[in-house]
Amino acid sequence: MTAKQRVSYFYQPEVGHFYYGPSHPMKPHRIKMAHHLILTYGLYRKMECYRSHPASPSEMAAFHTEDYINFLAKVTPDNMRGYSNQMNRFNVGEYTDCPVFDGLYEFTQLYTGASLDGAVKLNRGDCDIAINWSGGLHHAKKSEASGFCYINDIVLAILELLKVHARVLYIDIDVHHGDGVEEAFYCTDRVMTFSLHKYGDFFPGTGHIKDTGAKEGTGFSVNAPLTSGMTDDAYEKIFKPVMSKIMEVFRPGAIVLQCGADSLTGDRLGCFNLTLKGHAECVAFTKSFNVPTLVLGGGGYTIRNVARCWAYETSVLLDTELPNEIPYNDYYEYYAPDFKLHLTPEQRENMNTEASLESVRVDLLNQLIGMKGAPSVQMLEVPPDFEVIKENLEAEKERKSTKEDREGEGMNDGGSGDDKRNRNTKDGKGEKRDHDAELAA
Ligand SMILES: [Zn+2]
Repeated sequence: MTAKQRVSYFYQPEVGHFYYGPSHPMKPHRIKMAHHLILTYGLYRKMECYRSHPASPSEMAAFHTEDYINFLAKVTPDNMRGYSNQMNRFNVGEYTDCPVFDGLYEFTQLYTGASLDGAVKLNRGDCDIAINWSGGLHHAKKSEASGFCYINDIVLAILELLKVHARVLYIDIDVHHGDGVEEAFYCTDRVMTFSLHKYGDFFPGTGHIKDTGAKEGTGFSVNAPLTSGMTDDAYEKIFKPVMSKIMEVFRPGAIVLQCGADSLTGDRLGCFNLTLKGHAECVAFTKSFNVPTLVLGGGGYTIRNVARCWAYETSVLLDTELPNEIPYNDYYEYYAPDFKLHLTPEQRENMNTEASLESVRVDLLNQLIGMKGAPSVQMLEVPPDFEVIKENLEAEKERKSTKEDREGEGMNDGGSGDDKRNRNTKDGKGEKRDHDAELAA
């Protein structure tokens, strides 16, 4: 048993007040509900709680283009008619799943700032685990909104972690493929992405098992394509062996864990059948490696269950048991009729067969075993992790050198030129998908 991990929690009270629109499934209110559960369960006493800063345009520009950031900063529901060309170009507006709503840009600043604050705290060695339930918007691209996501706080946080850590592991347990993060780091061996997701006629359409990375990053994208009805047991049988092998061969200095709660049973958009325990088992297992970890939110559209999930996962990160009775709080009525924390899986078939799960597990383990001793991995074992950056001067020096590294050849900034994925995967399911199928269900 290692020393207790120090947990920092980042929150902005305003983040729950933004509204995508009446029929839109993304409800930022769920973050406030989760926060109130965390408070009333008393978990705030066991971690350091911070009000995070709003991210600045220059912080966002570490990944996103300036014209895209400027557009997000300026467009409002009142003036959007004057921006129709840019709305088209950036995939924003009423004909997309990324509407223009009041305070849109401020919302992106809040969730992004909290992820960056978490990454900086981890980089300084001030905590072992940093939590931002408002973050995890994994679909956003360099200059394009996608799947309810505008600014990719995850890519920005990973870039921050790469200032200090030679290798960063990204894990994504959202029901959707973590396409924006994968694309940003598809050609580098400094970031490994591991996404488990529903694949086949489902948003965003990417995440085939054979999409394993390109150039320097070949082998460093790990995709577990799954189908409807995933149970706790089935999920664990993929997650644990693959994760163990990743830790063995990749040996990350830091981890970013996206905990999208739309992989839970009963989600409005998702189609998996995980309980809080199965979902949180991934959190507990990741924590057991005792590597500095940034824990983020993500999708989740049955909002009472999203709040349950992230409150429970906060308790898991704090090694604290929670009573199954939901404590009285401002949103108590949302937890009717049972007012219990934990969820019961639906009685339905897991469409993932034993054989299909075994095949995914074996293919991914083979992909990872094949990497052992890869020159790029050996080369990257050399730079040590900085524990603490004491002087601003040192920090500045580090920032400059990393910036130069990133601007050098083979830079993988998520631009269209960097995306080497084969869009036409052999079964023809690699094309772009929208959310229509799920929303109609
Ligand atoms: Zn999702």
